[in-house]
Amino acid sequence: MELKPGLSAFVTGAASGIGRALALALAQKGIFVTVVDYSEDRGKEVALLAQNENLKFHSGLKFPSTIFVKCDVSNKGQVAAAFDKHMQVYGGLDICINSAGIVTPILFAKDQTDGSNSWRHAVNVNLLGVIACTHRAIQIMEAAKKPGVIINLGSAAGLYPHIADPIYSASKGGVVMFTRALALYKKKGIRANVLCPEFIRTEMGELVDSRFIERMGGYVSMENLIKGAFELITDESKAGSCLWITNRRGFEYWPTPTEEAKYLVVPSRLKKRLTSVINSNVKIPQSFEKVIVRTLSHNFRSATSIVRAPLKLPIKPGHVLFKVIYAGVNASDVNFSSGSYFSGSKEEIRSRLPFDAGFEAVGLIAAVSDGVKNLKVGTPAAIMTFGGYAEFVMVPSKHILPVARPDPEVVAMLTSGLTASISLEKAAQMESGKTVLVTAAAGGTGQFAVQLAKLAGNKVVATCGGKDKAILLKDLGVDRVIDYKEESIKNVLKKEFPKGVDIVYESVGGDMFDVCLNALAVYGRMVIIGMISQYQGEHGWKPRNYTGLCEKLLAKSQTVAGFFLVQYAHLWQQHLGNLVHLFSLGKLKVAVDPKSFVGVQSVADAVEYLHSGKSVGKVVVCIDPSFSQQTAKL
Ligand code: NAP
Repeated sequence: MELKPGLSAFVTGAASGIGRALALALAQKGIFVTVVDYSEDRGKEVALLAQNENLKFHSGLKFPSTIFVKCDVSNKGQVAAAFDKHMQVYGGLDICINSAGIVTPILFAKDQTDGSNSWRHAVNVNLLGVIACTHRAIQIMEAAKKPGVIINLGSAAGLYPHIADPIYSASKGGVVMFTRALALYKKKGIRANVLCPEFIRTEMGELVDSRFIERMGGYVSMENLIKGAFELITDESKAGSCLWITNRRGFEYWPTPTEEAKYLVVPSRLKKRLTSVINSNVKIPQSFEKVIVRTLSHNFRSATSIVRAPLKLPIKPGHVLFKVIYAGVNASDVNFSSGSYFSGSKEEIRSRLPFDAGFEAVGLIAAVSDGVKNLKVGTPAAIMTFGGYAEFVMVPSKHILPVARPDPEVVAMLTSGLTASISLEKAAQMESGKTVLVTAAAGGTGQFAVQLAKLAGNKVVATCGGKDKAILLKDLGVDRVIDYKEESIKNVLKKEFPKGVDIVYESVGGDMFDVCLNALAVYGRMVIIGMISQYQGEHGWKPRNYTGLCEKLLAKSQTVAGFFLVQYAHLWQQHLGNLVHLFSLGKLKVAVDPKSFVGVQSVADAVEYLHSGKSVGKVVVCIDPSFSQQTAKL
């Protein structure tokens, strides 16, 4: 939602502290504000100040640009009346900020009362008041069928225990979980998010021991708080999001995708449905076609052949027969066909020939060996073993990754998605509030890197070559797209990011490596994902020298970290579950290149297409169109 004059906002707890600051900040954007508080004098004063701000944007209004409504949010009648008043004056509701909150008036450990004026009241204001206002705001927004945003004020004390005030912690923890659980209202255009600042210098914040505040990195500035709230309002991807703001870690969305993956499970409903429908249709032929590497070359087409192989039954113990529906195309297919994936002398590598090509696929389990109990025929699954460019693959059952659907988007999440997800966490050690630069950003893996960096609360700069790619990247939420066909990457970085970028997700290599390294900030981390520009030199991959690399890294305490997905297999299932979950929530988009490649015959065309620089998103080969059509209908 763009913050623009003419919107209206309802802000509780607006007479002081955070509520006051947010009410005034909204008014400065020309937004009509209802200042809601039980404190009349101070509330009226804020309403007056807000009016001075937003009146500049409006002339000849027949209604006040700001109003004050006295309201105790723990009183349901007063809450209803306050919303009625807002609607009567402004006729609609775009933003609702629930900021009213109190500390527990009597120390819990010493409280001898029945809690009516202490802990019960704190829960009523901090949690029930927020629920009541959110409930009413949703009703109004739903009825209007217009987009709306609700920002609830949680607290860092709602993310970890605040020992000095257990009731405050409990009520704020409730606000956090309540708001996160509202994520699906996004489908109706209503986005509820929760803001969890650490200590802010307000009347409430000043009650906390200053030594403790110092240990926590000092007070969070009101400026950052407002920035966080505005991010939650304006960023359309944020729904059920929880933004934790500290001085120590900056802006961080909680839980991180990795934390979230620990408790999320892939929905089994679809899995069951697919299994029952497809079960009977997987026919096992006597032979099948596959792409093999028969001579070592970085020219994929001349290195490979299509062969028909017998389907040997019975299946080896501990194995399953996997039917491929979609196979994913990767930049590194040409490195695999030139033998670079194997260690040893040229002779030793040559002795492996012929070997099966392809890194990844989605499809169905066609048959299982007797000992395999945990997998059933018809189950949709993914594989990330060699040999994906085939109609069938025999795979050890432990290498099967169950997925909800055998779709092209899921193939994209395998090598490409997992590389971005795992490397940003492990090699880049990505946090929030940083600037992240992604190269080849509209490609298979780049598209995931930009979105995950955005979802984690970072500013994202992305490079690409071409208008279509630039459009995709804008759509994925990239803050600054640099189309190198239109402008110089080096100049843009120098001019617009003079302090440098904190993280680089680099996969192009060659001159791009130099440009990125020179743009890295002090303490910056650059992750080497690949070097696609070097893969297909005249004689194959030519390693480069980087003169002065050590000196540059030393001078700015920088890190250059390598990342190779194969070494992180223990994290695949967890990160895949998380990517699928983000996708199902609509928080992650997956771009699959629209060019159609069908059957194993088209694999070499698809590999060449990826290296032509024309592809946008993930390049996928549909190995069996009859099955893809069948599953698409489900
Ligand atoms: P991709 O990004 O879809 O590759 C296509 C894009 O790369 C093109 O659209 C083009 O983008 C750029 N490109 C292609 N040829 C180029 C050339 N000769 N010079 C400069 N740029 C060129 O491919 P991908 O499979 O996702 O792989 C991307 C990179 O990630 C590769 O370096 C790959 O090796 C690496 N990777 C590494 C791992 C790992 O475990 N480390 C895993 C997966 C992928 P623009 O022109 O728009 O920049």
